[in-house]
Amino acid sequence: MTGTLRQMLTCHWSARRIQRYLDADPAAPLTPGEVARLEGHLATCERCTRIVQEHRTLHRALSRWSGATSVDSRSVDRVREFLSTIDDQDPT
Ligand SMILES: [Zn+2]
Repeated sequence: MTGTLRQMLTCHWSARRIQRYLDADPAAPLTPGEVARLEGHLATCERCTRIVQEHRTLHRALSRWSGATSVDSRSVDRVREFLSTIDDQDPT
C-alpha cells in the first residue's frame, strides 16, 4: 500500500510539472534534478506518459497555427481539465 501511495504522490508531483517540462518555460524552469525525476517517473508510469502525449499533441497543433497570436483557450482548458482529473483520481 505504501508503494501505491508513493506512486500516487509521484503522479501528482509529475502532473504539476509536465507542462513546465514540455513548455521549457524560461520563467519557471525545472531544475536538472526535477527533470531527471520526472523522466524517471515517465519511464515507469503509463498514466503520466499519456499526459505528456496529450501535451505534445496540443503543442503540434499550436505550432501549425504559428500565425495566430493567441492560444486556443479551449484546447488549453481541455488539457488543464485532463490534468485536474488525474490529480483527483483515486487509484485502486
Ligand atoms: Zn504517474
